[in-house]
Amino acid sequence: MQLVDIGANLTHSSFQHDLAAVLDRAAAHGVTQLVVTGASRDGSPQALALARAHPGRLFATAGVHPHHADEYDADCDGLLRELVAAPEVRAVGETGLDYHRDLSPRPTQQFAFERQLQIALDCGKPLFLHQRDAHDDFMAILRPVRDRLAAVVVHCFTGTREELFDYLDLDCHIGITGWICDERRGTHLREIVGNVPLSRLMIETDSPYLLPRNLKPMPSHRRNEPMFLAHICAEVARDRGEAMATTAAGTTATARAFFGL
Ligand SMILES: [Zn+2]
Repeated sequence: MQLVDIGANLTHSSFQHDLAAVLDRAAAHGVTQLVVTGASRDGSPQALALARAHPGRLFATAGVHPHHADEYDADCDGLLRELVAAPEVRAVGETGLDYHRDLSPRPTQQFAFERQLQIALDCGKPLFLHQRDAHDDFMAILRPVRDRLAAVVVHCFTGTREELFDYLDLDCHIGITGWICDERRGTHLREIVGNVPLSRLMIETDSPYLLPRNLKPMPSHRRNEPMFLAHICAEVARDRGEAMATTAAGTTATARAFFGL
């Protein structure tokens, strides 16, 4: 079994002291390739550096998360344009809208999202998108340009059935995290994940965030890491009513095609 973690925040400080061990454990659990999320002005060059240090195993995205949208100025736009030209960078983003925490003003988030859509249009690389509690505005910005974009993934999908079908209708891919294991807020995902064709489905940990809440035993440190992707894959397979090997092979093939791994 080989798995691809399409969203790992390996530039996070919690991985600084033991990244080699984290990657070894991931490999021991079948996670052979990972896409390191670039989510800020400082983090995106670091994601590229990690990908360069682990060729063929780590890849990167380059973008500015809506939480950091107020970093987005002309210099930042120029930096992202340089980064996305690197062969190790396989997608533009993480970008999108997050009205749940509203850590940046909404007009600022919309501006940064639109600028990064333009980068994707210009470079022709796929998009790695984040949406939380902002579906209508997100669709209003994405829909008019969708036809001119390459592949698009809505990562860490946590929305409703209606939102899921909106994204599938727009020919978007869907990223599923350990959110699906959350008995407080993820159970609706278990009922709808079977509606995503394997050719549109990818899995991710969003490490070090979103530690699956039903791991047994629970790690004492509470840090999520890519090795737990195998657990997420098993949960998704159960919810879809298919063999884990089917989910693993399907999501891996989809991720490899999407990111060109
Ligand atoms: Zn996200």
